[in-house]
Amino acid sequence: MVDFRVGFGYDSHRFAPDRPLVIGGIAIPYELGLAAHSDGDVLIHAVCDALLGAAGLKDIGTWFPDTDSTWKNADSTVLLTKVMELMTSRGWQVNNLDCTLVLEKPKMKPYIDDMVTKLSELLQTNPENIAVKAKTNEKMGFTGAGEGIAAVAAVTLRKQ
Ligand code: MG
Repeated sequence: MVDFRVGFGYDSHRFAPDRPLVIGGIAIPYELGLAAHSDGDVLIHAVCDALLGAAGLKDIGTWFPDTDSTWKNADSTVLLTKVMELMTSRGWQVNNLDCTLVLEKPKMKPYIDDMVTKLSELLQTNPENIAVKAKTNEKMGFTGAGEGIAAVAAVTLRKQ
């Protein structure tokens, strides 16, 4: 008997000067970063929400509120590690993750493989079970105008 769950996550952050640009746990050299209470890692946040949603554990804001100074400028991979502790303590294993970044600039292609490697380590699964994609929004909306970055993530969990 295998229990199986699907989770979905979404996040967005606004570009800001004098901020780091960290996506999928990878530091990306760029003139702008993302405004946030934490390091603003929009992809990791979407992945956290997908995992928490799949396990019926509410959302990232519930576990890491932005009113808590503990998480000020926090490395989001630490948040994801804590989310994975919640998963494993309940017997959930990641089956696969599929996610998409939406942004005009900078180009993500040089960093995608590193993101997949990082996420596979954090999610304790093989890189073949992880997909990270990036696309523009054809100049439409806030992502198209270059105001920020959006990320969506779908995850499946299994419990033996
Ligand atoms: Mg966020």
